[in-house]
Amino acid sequence: MTDQNYETSDVLVVGSGIAGLAAALGAVREGSDVTVATKATRPEGASSWWAQGGIAVSRDHPEQFKQDIIAASDDTADPDAVDVLVENANDAVEDVLLDTLEVKFDENGGDLDFTREAAHSEDRILHVDAATGKHIHVPFLNYLDAHDGVEILDDTAALELIRHEGRVHGAMLESDGEVTPHYAGSVVLATGGIGELYPRTTNPDMATGDGIAMAALAGADVEDMEYVQFHPTVAIPGEDGDDDDVFLVSEAVRGEGALLRNGDGERFMKEYHADAELAPRDVVARAVKAEREGTGEVLLDVSPLSFAAEFPGLARRCTDHGIDYEDGIPVAPAEHFLCGGVAVDDRGRTTLDRLYAVGECSRTGVHGANRLASTSLLEGLVWGLRAGEDAAGKGVEPIEAPDLLERDPDLPARFAGDKMHRLRRVMDEQLGVERDPDELGKAMATVRRLKGEVDAYVRTRTSRSLYELRHASVTALLVARHASENTESVGTHNLVEKAPAEPSAD
Ligand SMILES: Cc1cc2nc3c(=O)[nH]c(=O)nc-3n(C[C@H](O)[C@H](O)[C@H](O)COP(=O)(O)OP(=O)(O)OC[C@H]3O[C@@H](n4cnc5c(N)ncnc54)[C@H](O)[C@@H]3O)c2cc1C
Repeated sequence: MTDQNYETSDVLVVGSGIAGLAAALGAVREGSDVTVATKATRPEGASSWWAQGGIAVSRDHPEQFKQDIIAASDDTADPDAVDVLVENANDAVEDVLLDTLEVKFDENGGDLDFTREAAHSEDRILHVDAATGKHIHVPFLNYLDAHDGVEILDDTAALELIRHEGRVHGAMLESDGEVTPHYAGSVVLATGGIGELYPRTTNPDMATGDGIAMAALAGADVEDMEYVQFHPTVAIPGEDGDDDDVFLVSEAVRGEGALLRNGDGERFMKEYHADAELAPRDVVARAVKAEREGTGEVLLDVSPLSFAAEFPGLARRCTDHGIDYEDGIPVAPAEHFLCGGVAVDDRGRTTLDRLYAVGECSRTGVHGANRLASTSLLEGLVWGLRAGEDAAGKGVEPIEAPDLLERDPDLPARFAGDKMHRLRRVMDEQLGVERDPDELGKAMATVRRLKGEVDAYVRTRTSRSLYELRHASVTALLVARHASENTESVGTHNLVEKAPAEPSAD
């Protein structure tokens, strides 16, 4: 036992997106007291807030939904995990989103309006205003904030897990420069994605892969890290866009009839896939990249629909960013979602005792090598609830915490920024939409070197930005390692084929 100052709760949830909030709800309903620690200072600090298209449900055709998920994954999704998702979808959405939070999904003639997105074979997506995320996320935060037994700690980052002999006992939390051990009966990681590892991403800037790195450093299994999904239609304002200004143009826009045209004004998607603009994401992302390289630009032509009427928020955002959408929206692929993560079972249990992972930082097997649109909010909701219920009711046992408490918090100026810049360049050039198998070993060596430089600082300093950099470099190394170990080009892991070498003249 330790004589340090410390906090405790039955369940510590790290992250306040849909997955973390669902886990908190699951646990508090079981009678546990729950602490949600989140780096976010505003709801916008979670990808969940930014979700546009919506949340898929199975309606009356679960088998069809399962087939769509598996087809989009290039037949790599785990059928058992897909069963868990689809068979719990309607109940979870009804219970939490409709009955508990009373989310007012868009209606059509007094009934819920279901829409369709790329690679879905029927209309099954619930949505609000093409800004579904915030209409779920804000009421969810408010509901839990007012709930007895739940405490939400904003602007509080988990830096490291407290682990002893294969069991997790809590996490070291940093707030306002102070680091404190927080002991818990169970810890649920819900830290979201890894977008910040790439120069162009749809994710908010908290997405540095913290939960994946913390779990991996504690010894948990991590899987499928090579499957990084790039969204094909991310608006790039201005001359090729400032990467901080890019924003997602939801698949729902293509679902409603928008067309992709190359720099010569030609539609091209039919040459790449029979479903044209509604092909799976990985196919469209590769096509958009190729056409941009071949013809200079790709525009999303929204003239077939009443864009401003159907997507008023997006239309406003275009105008605010100086894009005249009537001339077409300039788009490019950008990092969007990680299909892999901390390996978990059907209740979000990792390979370490009392450690759970849910949402985008986890690898449930639902997405395989490529995610079907609008299944991520659902996965976070379903697995969050199940993990929270399972995590409840375990005893808290404070133990000796890692020695992070007495270190110098300062970092040399620009250290983190420079290292992040180097990391992003490798990820973009060697671990992006297309990967050259001959370059993956080099990418791994570069990232490993960078991680070594960061580790040297971590031994003597404890600032949040340094730990984010550490987590980003650990996560990047996992992506590079898994990518170099997987020689099969599948889904989002797209290996470029080399032309056979010319026979030599002699
Ligand atoms: C622009 C955009 C549009 C999208 N549209 C859709 C859609 O229409 N439908 C759909 O299904 N999916 C969509 N997605 C994907 C989906 O939104 C995310 O995959 C999902 O919301 C992830 O939820 P999460 O709870 O796992 O993570 P997030 O919502 O990203 O939350 C992660 C949380 O962890 C916190 N955190 C991170 N590290 C730490 C740490 N060390 N300590 C404490 N807190 C930490 C963050 O601050 C944040 O609160 C979209 C994503 C984006 C970015």
